[in-house]
Amino acid sequence: MLDEAAGEWSIDGEKAFITNSGTDITSIVTVTARTDAAGAGGKPEISTIVVPAGTPGFEVQPPYRKMGWHASDTHGLSFSGCRVPEANLLGERGRGFANFLAILDDGRVAIAALAVGVIQCCLEQSVQYAKDRNAFGKPIGANQAVAFKCADLEVMAATARHLTYHAAWLKDMGRPFKQEAAIAKLYATEAAVTATREATQIFGGYGFMDETLVSRQYRDSKILEIGEGTSEVQRMIIARGQGLPL
Ligand SMILES: Cc1cc2nc3c(=O)[nH]c(=O)nc-3n(C[C@H](O)[C@H](O)[C@H](O)COP(=O)(O)OP(=O)(O)OC[C@H]3O[C@@H](n4cnc5c(N)ncnc54)[C@H](O)[C@@H]3O)c2cc1C
Repeated sequence: MLDEAAGEWSIDGEKAFITNSGTDITSIVTVTARTDAAGAGGKPEISTIVVPAGTPGFEVQPPYRKMGWHASDTHGLSFSGCRVPEANLLGERGRGFANFLAILDDGRVAIAALAVGVIQCCLEQSVQYAKDRNAFGKPIGANQAVAFKCADLEVMAATARHLTYHAAWLKDMGRPFKQEAAIAKLYATEAAVTATREATQIFGGYGFMDETLVSRQYRDSKILEIGEGTSEVQRMIIARGQGLPL
């Protein structure tokens, strides 16, 4: 809430799972907070406020131990009587939620692009391994069950890439792209999880070993279906775009 006499925002609350919030070069975090007077009726007013690292009352919790994305920094944040100048308002007061949702549309194209990279890696690694690995006197890729997995990986890579480029192109053209970003994010990330499962299967026992690139992709891909809006949220957005009263 705004302390008008002091000309300061006073922030209280917590947020789990914030990326890059505790690195040596993290100088600020942006907080999307309720800024109407406590208990005000109607729709809550939500605004964005910049909080510099080290501000008294702002605490960065210890890093999470995650199943993947070990190179990415993730912390919970807590705010208790944390005060910053009124001028730290980012954008228009009351537009924080709308801005947050618009930024998520951009982010969904970026997450879809990450998924395309994961699928492409699984495709290249799997086709090579299917040619190189000999079992029972022939390359494993001579078995239809393995060859068909490789074919499916190529279809996933091509489809995810086209959907992602299309959404990115619409954004670059300044045209609406919410629906297309959700479609690209949903398809590409679910395909990435499938692709990593199939690729680790093609690698057999080596697929379970840390030394194999696809095993890392297997662990890292799951978050793509969760961050920047879960798959369920993407389906909700797509259905709403169809005019359904969801
Ligand atoms: C590594 C990591 C980094 C992250 N980085 C950031 C960050 O930098 N900034 C940030 O703001 N957030 C970040 N997040 C948070 C992330 O965006 C959320 O975890 C994600 O959106 C899911 O929200 P939730 O965890 O609250 O799940 P919940 O909302 O509790 O959902 C749990 C399950 O229920 C389903 N569900 C919930 N509501 C509905 C509904 N109405 N209809 C159907 N299904 C529903 C969900 O789809 C999901 O499957 C990060 C998370 C992780 C794990």
